[in-house]
Amino acid sequence: MRCTELTEHVTNGTWRCDVCQWGCQLADGDIGRCLVRTGNGQGITILNDGMISAAQVSPIEDHRIWHAFPNAPILAIGGWGYAFPVDQQRGPYGQIPTDDRKNRRLDPDRAAQFALEQLCRGVVWKYSDPSVSHEYVLELLKLSRASSRFTAIVTSGYLTISALDEIGHYLDIMNLDLRAFEDGAYHQLAGITNWRDILKTTAHAYQRWNCHIEVTTQLHPQINDTDEQLKAMSHWICSTLGPQTAWHVLPGDNGAAATASVVRARKLGHEAGLKFIYSGDPNQNTLCPSCGTVVIERNEKRSRIVGLENGQCTTCSEKLSIRTSIFKR
Ligand code: SF4
Repeated sequence: MRCTELTEHVTNGTWRCDVCQWGCQLADGDIGRCLVRTGNGQGITILNDGMISAAQVSPIEDHRIWHAFPNAPILAIGGWGYAFPVDQQRGPYGQIPTDDRKNRRLDPDRAAQFALEQLCRGVVWKYSDPSVSHEYVLELLKLSRASSRFTAIVTSGYLTISALDEIGHYLDIMNLDLRAFEDGAYHQLAGITNWRDILKTTAHAYQRWNCHIEVTTQLHPQINDTDEQLKAMSHWICSTLGPQTAWHVLPGDNGAAATASVVRARKLGHEAGLKFIYSGDPNQNTLCPSCGTVVIERNEKRSRIVGLENGQCTTCSEKLSIRTSIFKR
């Protein structure tokens, strides 16, 4: 098994992992907070290396990326492991399976080749958290970019700036799972307190690496849906990532309260200046915020560009931050 390269020797036999923001210090036999890395006395072993939990060819919209490469077929792929303890308890991809039949391996070069063979225009790391599968994600992104596929990650944003700087050159799109905007709420929903570092990493992805960023927030009544948090989230997205950033606000459960929270979030987000806020309905069109022309038509089966040319609305020429080229700005 390979060892983590983003490490620092701390003391005799103990190494710090710099892949995600936990920064675990692991001696021989210690297991990281992610449960997928372990100290071996000489470094840190990657237990989930080369393992795949799920892979599927699907439209990019299925992964809540709505303002980049509309209707593009992509290879969605994921491994095992989450950075957040809450996800390890609830999520299906938290633990490496002990049953060998579920323990599938697929090297990054085979995954990139498979995307090509399936005529996918891009690859998206989804399902598990890319923050704790850094080495695999880096290789997959590099190989995919080398064959002119675009690349994306759906992420908690808990990777370190050092890890981001390794993948940034090869990363086109990031969908940030922004859980909350307050200490207690973030702790309840993710089990962390240093959530503001997620904002810094995301801003770095946008400013340093020109990544196209979309944000997704699941709203849980009385936890992360207070007016204060929704306003603060909206202001942060608007001022840091720009008013044209797509914000997907989804009900965290099936209750009427969560649906009402989504309606309120959209209202507050628009008041803060955000131009594109989507709920869970897959049939929402994208309208030009300036003249109201439909620029992307969307239904459950497909989406298509109908009013966009060279990045501008075909009716009023408003410049829209919708990504359709693999070339970065
Ligand atoms: S990936 Fe994160 S949680 Fe896992 S060992 Fe490294 S720092 Fe710890």
